[in-house]
Amino acid sequence: MINEQINKEYFSAYLYLSISSRMLDLGLCGFAHWYEVQAREECDHAMRFYRFLHDEGLGVTLLPIAAPQCQCVCPADMLREALEHEEFVTESINHICRHAEEIHDRRVMQFLDWFVAEQAEEEANARDMLAKLRLYGENPASLFLLDCQLAKRE
Ligand code: MG
Repeated sequence: MINEQINKEYFSAYLYLSISSRMLDLGLCGFAHWYEVQAREECDHAMRFYRFLHDEGLGVTLLPIAAPQCQCVCPADMLREALEHEEFVTESINHICRHAEEIHDRRVMQFLDWFVAEQAEEEANARDMLAKLRLYGENPASLFLLDCQLAKRE
């Protein structure tokens, strides 16, 4: 399950890179930057799982990364897709947690604690982005200001 989670995190990176690319096409460079940073963060998530398996002396089998299928054209649809994807990742991590609890694997449970907290943050960020776009996205001037703000993400 953790091996598969490596793949899911890299798929997340791919999905966010595809959103970043579409945002660039639309001229929304701040949004594009935000999702590019997010894509890099997803690679870090994948590497945490990767290192955990190696530290445990378990092998890693890298699986093919699927192409993102997002056909969204408007920013709101892309942000909604991002939120739904984070909810999917949360469920995937919760599923691993439940299994670890069943087999009393304390080490995995402790390792996953960081991801449980991280997923709460990821979902909150995704909801916040969507809420902001709904509030300010209709007006070009306020959309521009929001795009400038998102460009500042480090
Ligand atoms: Mg992630």
